[in-house]
Amino acid sequence: MKEVRTRFAPSPTGFMHIGNLRSALFEYLVAKSQNGTFILRIEDTDQKREVEGAVKFIYDTLKICDIHVDEGPLEGGEYGPYTQSERVDLYKKYAQELVDKGEAYYCFCSEERLEKLREEADIRKVAFMYDGHCLKLTKEEIEEKLKAGEPYVIRQKMPKEGVTSYEDMVYGKISVENKLLEDQILLKSDGYPTYNFANVIDDHLMGITHVVRGNEYLSSTPKYLLLYKAFGWESPEYIHLPHIIKEGGKKISKRDGDSTFMDLYNMGYLPKAIINYLALLGWSPADNQEIFSMEELIQKFDVKRINNSPAVYDIKKLNWVNAHYIKELSPEEFKELVMPFLEKEYDLSSKSEEWLNELLTIYQSHISCGNEIVDEVRLFFNNEYNPDEEALEFMKTEGVDKTIEVFREELNNINEWTVENIQEAINNTKEKSGNKGKLLFMPIRIKTSGVMHGPELASTIHLLGEELVKERLK
Ligand code: GLU
Repeated sequence: MKEVRTRFAPSPTGFMHIGNLRSALFEYLVAKSQNGTFILRIEDTDQKREVEGAVKFIYDTLKICDIHVDEGPLEGGEYGPYTQSERVDLYKKYAQELVDKGEAYYCFCSEERLEKLREEADIRKVAFMYDGHCLKLTKEEIEEKLKAGEPYVIRQKMPKEGVTSYEDMVYGKISVENKLLEDQILLKSDGYPTYNFANVIDDHLMGITHVVRGNEYLSSTPKYLLLYKAFGWESPEYIHLPHIIKEGGKKISKRDGDSTFMDLYNMGYLPKAIINYLALLGWSPADNQEIFSMEELIQKFDVKRINNSPAVYDIKKLNWVNAHYIKELSPEEFKELVMPFLEKEYDLSSKSEEWLNELLTIYQSHISCGNEIVDEVRLFFNNEYNPDEEALEFMKTEGVDKTIEVFREELNNINEWTVENIQEAINNTKEKSGNKGKLLFMPIRIKTSGVMHGPELASTIHLLGEELVKERLK
C-alpha cells in the first residue's frame, strides 16, 4: 500500500482558530492512524494577509498540542521547500506548462474592464464570471503584449460542457457542471500563484495522498480536479470536514469573539483536553468512549466515522473534558496551572506554602479551567463578609440558630486548629443540635465563609483561619 501523506496548510495570519486546529488534528490523525507522514506547509502567497511571527506561532501551537511535524519548513524533507513563497518559480513553470498545453491562457484584461463586467453582472443579478475575452487573442497579439510589458494573469481554461465529479470520503459524490466554473486565475499579475493553483501543484509535488480540510472547499474541489486532469496527474483522496457551529447554528469565528486556541490555553484549558474535545467535533468512535489520549486517538481514529453534519461547539462539554484532565494532574502540575492566575489576582505574600497547598488540594476537583480558581477562592482573600440574598434568606430558616450556637461552642472546645478537630466539631454539632444535612452544613458554611457552596467544609474553615472564623461566629 502507498504511504499515506497528509498536510496541514495554514496561511500565516497570526492566530489559530479552533477550526484550523481541528483541521491540523484530523490531518495528523488520518496520517498517524495509518502510519503515515504529516507535513506542514506554509501558504503565504497572499502576502497582504501575512503577520510577522505567525509561523513560529503555528509551530508553538502544534508543539503544545503534541502534534509532531514530520516534514516542514523547519524539519525539511525530500519535497521542500515547504513555504510557498519559496516555490514561486515552480508555480510559474507549471502555469507556463498549462499555457503550452492549451489548458490555460494569458489574460491582459484591465481592472477597469473587469470592474465593468462585475457591474453588469450585478445589474443582471447573476454571479460574475470572467467572459473569456482574452481566449480570442492570437499568438502574435499575445507576443506583442508580452513584449510591451503589459501586465497579465494566467487563467485556467475550463471546459464549457460536461460535469466534474468526485467521491469525497465524508460527503460522498460531489458534482459540479463545468459551465458554472469560472476561468479562474492561476497566476496573479505579481507572479504569485493563487491558492487555487498552488494547493494543487504542492499537493501533487509533495505526494499528498489525502487532502483533509474544511468543507468550504467542497464545491471548489472540482476546479482542482480539472487541473490534475490537465496535467495528467492522479488526484488525491478528499476528506472535507464539517463546519463547526455554535448552538443556534452560527459558524464560530474569531470576529464574533469566539475563542482561538491560544485564548483557551491562556484561560487555563489543558492542551490535552482541547485536543480530546476537538477530536470529537466531527468524529466519534464506534463505542461511547469520550476521553482519549493522543495515542488512543491515533489507535482508534477511523476516517469512516467522520460525520458530515455540522459539529456543535459546546463549551459545557469542553469544560467537562477539561475538568476530567484537571483532576488527573499531579498536585505539582495543578499548582503550575493555577498559580499564574492566583499571583496575578491576589497578594500571596502572607500565605504559607502549606496553606497554599491545602487550598489547591481542595479546589483541584472543583474547577473546570485554570482561571476559574480566581473566583472560587476569592472568599479566602476578601475579608469582607458578603453573603448574597439567597444566603441571607436561608439564614432565616428555623433551626439555623441552633446549629450556629452549638457549633460555636464546639469550636471553642477544640485545642488545636486542625481539619480533623474541625470535622469533629461539625460531627458533634450534628449530634447535639439534632440538625443534619442542609440544616447542619449550610448555616455553618454561610456563617463562616459567606457563600452557600464550596468544597469540603472542614477544610474550608481550616483555611479561613481560627481568628476570622471565631470572629464571624460571634
Ligand atoms: N491555506 C488554506 C487555509 O488556511 C488551506 C486550505 C487547505 O487545506 O487546502 O484555509
